Amino acid sequence: MLRAMDLHLVATELLDALLPQRCVACERFGSALHLACLEAEPAASDEPRCGQCWRPGVASPCASCVAAPPAFEALRTPYRFEGAVRRALLEAKFRGVTNVLPLLGERAAAVVPEAWQPTMVVPVPLHRSRERERGYNQAALIGGAVACILGVPCEVGVLKRARATVPQATLRAATRAQNLTHAFECAPLPAGARVLLVDDVTTTGATFEACARALLGAGATAVFPLAVARED
Ligand SMILES: [Zn+2]
Ligand SMILES: [Zn+2]
Repeated sequence: MLRAMDLHLVATELLDALLPQRCVACERFGSALHLACLEAEPAASDEPRCGQCWRPGVASPCASCVAAPPAFEALRTPYRFEGAVRRALLEAKFRGVTNVLPLLGERAAAVVPEAWQPTMVVPVPLHRSRERERGYNQAALIGGAVACILGVPCEVGVLKRARATVPQATLRAATRAQNLTHAFECAPLPAGARVLLVDDVTTTGATFEACARALLGAGATAVFPLAVARED
């Protein structure tokens, strides 16, 4: 039997299917996010950032990267997690509006420095149970678009979440890293693998750091994290 909550969800999904899409930036109908609207969003590189961890408003490399260098080479995002980009990523994650992801992936691919020369894209995995619940992994959809543009394979499934973790957004910075210790495991990688590690959003970089350690442990030569947006 359907509960009131389920009925509400069914009604919302029916309306979504029937109504034309509305842009998260300008609210006009026609697209979930217009290219022109996305191009008007400020770039993360508008402010000075640490070239390694991508933290804003600090020297490069920042004091914390000097004191404890990350396992990964360098992190990049085209955007900050705000405005239309934030709304588009939240819609993709929680409301199934996944058709904005290839465009966001395209913008992310555009900030990959020439020198990175990745040999594969690896999306940050969701735990099996969460992916089953949601029906897709938004990082894999972004990663697929990035891989396609860069002409390298997107290796879904080599990196796995070994156990379900508490959603990082609910934790403070100090407990985030702890939450992720041994959270990821990786199948052996081909010799010389240069991994472009893709996610939708990054905050402290703790998820990227934990994934990078698993990838390096599995034989990667270098890991370069790339997300659509950084929550500054
Ligand atoms: Zn628009
Ligand atoms: Zn740094």
